[in-house]
Order: sequence, then C-alpha cells, then structure tokens
Amino acid sequence: MKALSSSATVSINELVTKKKTSGERIYNFAAGDPVLRNHPSITRRAVQQAEKGFCPYPPVEGVPELRTLTAQWINAGSAAQYSKENVLVTCGGKFAIFSIIYTLVQPHEEVLIPSPYWVSYPEIVRMAGGTPVVVPCSSDGSWKVTAADLVKHLTEKSKFLIFNNACNPTGVLYSRQEVEEILTFAKKYGLTVISDEVYSGLAYEAPGFVSCGSFPEYRERVLIVQSCSKNFGMTGWRVGFVLGPAEVISKLAVLQTQSTTGVSLISQWAAVGALENADEVNAYVNSAMRKRRDLFFNTFRSLFPGPVAPVQSALYAFVPLSSMGIHHTRDSVAVAERLMVADNIALIPGKAFGLEGYVRFTFADVEENIEQGLRALRQAIERLGSVHE
Ligand code: PLP
Repeated sequence: MKALSSSATVSINELVTKKKTSGERIYNFAAGDPVLRNHPSITRRAVQQAEKGFCPYPPVEGVPELRTLTAQWINAGSAAQYSKENVLVTCGGKFAIFSIIYTLVQPHEEVLIPSPYWVSYPEIVRMAGGTPVVVPCSSDGSWKVTAADLVKHLTEKSKFLIFNNACNPTGVLYSRQEVEEILTFAKKYGLTVISDEVYSGLAYEAPGFVSCGSFPEYRERVLIVQSCSKNFGMTGWRVGFVLGPAEVISKLAVLQTQSTTGVSLISQWAAVGALENADEVNAYVNSAMRKRRDLFFNTFRSLFPGPVAPVQSALYAFVPLSSMGIHHTRDSVAVAERLMVADNIALIPGKAFGLEGYVRFTFADVEENIEQGLRALRQAIERLGSVHE
C-alpha cells in the first residue's frame, strides 16, 4: 500500500457520524458542510433527470449544458472569457485539485503552499510524487501570503503555487491588488497558479471576492478550482470544476477516463439547476451562513476571553487556544482529541492545517447547535482547566 495519511477533517467527521449513529449528542464544529435544505432549483432538475428512468455514463468532461453554464457563471463574476472547452466537471473541488496535481506535477517538482492551508493540499502533492513546500503566512491579523513570503521559498524546482482565496481555515479575502501581486509574482518566476476558489460565493464583506480569472493577461498560467459544494450548499452531490486553457482541460479529462468516468448525470443536472439560478441559490446559502457567522462570533465573544474577529469569508474560525482560555498547552491535537472523546465536541486541530496552538471551528451547522455547542465547550474547558490547575 502507498503510505497515505487520511484527511483529518474526514476522519473526525467519520468519528462524529459513528458516535451519532450510536445515539450520542455531538456538537459538530468540524464539518465544513452547510446544514441547509437544497434550494428547489437543484432538486427539481435532479428529479427530472432521475425520472427519465435511465442514467447512462456521463460525458467524461461533463454535460455540455453544465460546462457552458459554469463558464458563464465565472465570466459574470470576473469578466473572464471562458467557454465550454475551458471547463472540466469533476467529482467535487477535491478531485479537481487532485486531477490537476496528479496530471501536471512531475516527480520532485515543488508546489508552494501558503500556510495555514487546507488539509488535503500537501498530501495530494505527495501522492503525485511532488514536493509540498509550506510557506508560512504571518498571523499579525491578516494571514495573507505575499510575494515577499513566497520568494523566500522559491527554488529552481518550484513550478506551482496553490492559492486559496477565500481561505479555509482563516477566512481571509484578498483584495484585487493583492491577487494581482500574486499573479505577477507567479508570472515572473514561471509558476502555474492553482487558484482554489471554492468559497467565492461565501464572502461577507465589501469589496468581496476577486477571482484570479479577472486578469486575462495571466490566464494561461491560471487553473481555477471551483465547486458547487459550498457556494450552492451541495456538498453531497459531488460536483466541482476546473477552469483553464482548453488543452490543459483535455489532458485532465484523460485522468477521468481512467478513474471516475465523470460525475453522475443526476448530480450534474442538479448543478445545472443551481447554475441556471446561480445568484438566487448562492444568496440563499450566503445569507444563512452570514447569520451563522454572526451568531458564532457574538456567542463566542460572550463566553470566551478572546480576542477573535469575525471572518470575512468561508465557513470557519481559526482560533488560538489562548482565546478559548486554554493556556497550559499548544498541542491542538491533544485538545481536540480530549474534547471529542470526553465531551463530544468536534473541532479540527490547527496542526492539520500546518499550525500548532490553534483549532478550527466551522459555523455551518444550524443556529441552535452553534449556541449549545459553544456553551458545552465553555463548560468542557472549565473542566479541562481544573484538571490542569
Ligand atoms: N478546497 C477547499 C479550500 C476546501 O475547504 C474544500 C472542502 O472543504 C475543497 C476544496 C473541496 O470541496 P468539494 O470537494 O466538496 O468541492
């Protein structure tokens, strides 16, 4: 067997499911999974497809209607000029990232990964035989990677940069000028940018999200990763996308011919339903998540010493243990394990994102659970404190 380590978030979510199945009450701050009924535009199209009564193999690159709608959606938000040939439909954003890295990264090439990073990036790079190179971002309140940070980690083997805006786990949003700085840097040093934009529709503050697709002069060097999971509240349907030069999209499709054979037709038509009505479906998810964000941070501030500032985007709060009143340790794995095993509170340890001393909360669950979970956490930490006094 290849030595693979499983995703920390998926492993914790599996433990959550196991405990739930055996009837335990779980406070789930681990899953980045918007708990929300699907918008009717989504289910209507899926049911129509299912009721046709036959479901053949899908076109490997994705159904043409979906590819066209995806290109139009990205163009509308960014003034890019993608068309159907620039779009590959994948099994979620995760397989979009996998197919880019597995297909394009050559053994021993280096992939720059700003940290804190989404848990799967380094492991996917390793699976492909590449070398992940972690670029720490400053925690002085911004968590943003800059050209000055990147240049320190550049070698002749550096070929790719994974740029995650809006960011999981920090929730930062990059300004237009900051995105352009990154793209200029990438062009200067011949890097391909894998721009993970799966939270583009979950920006909560003006001026909002800026796509790497907004800069036509860099288009040849940019591969955009997109997904219906978060933007349209469709995690379980497993529909994601790569957008990029047509010849790269054709190359990536070859991997799908030998692996997934493409995405279920029912899911693809559900995604057509979302994209036909993209603004409305996204607004429905965004407004629910914004409310949960506000509730999370207000409740957190009323219960814990802080400081914590509300995030600008995505579904997460990346919180120092000290802001929760935990001062006796920086071992995020030990804290998360103890809270999960003893108190049924699920959090992801900062270590999984490349940084000790932090934990990641998600505020994607329903409001009642957020409030009750934070109260349970406060009690658990009080007990933890008394153990260590
Ligand atoms: N990229 C980031 C930053 C994520 O947080 C996630 C999921 O949590 C993904 C990609 C993949 O999402 P999906 O495969 O559900 O589209």
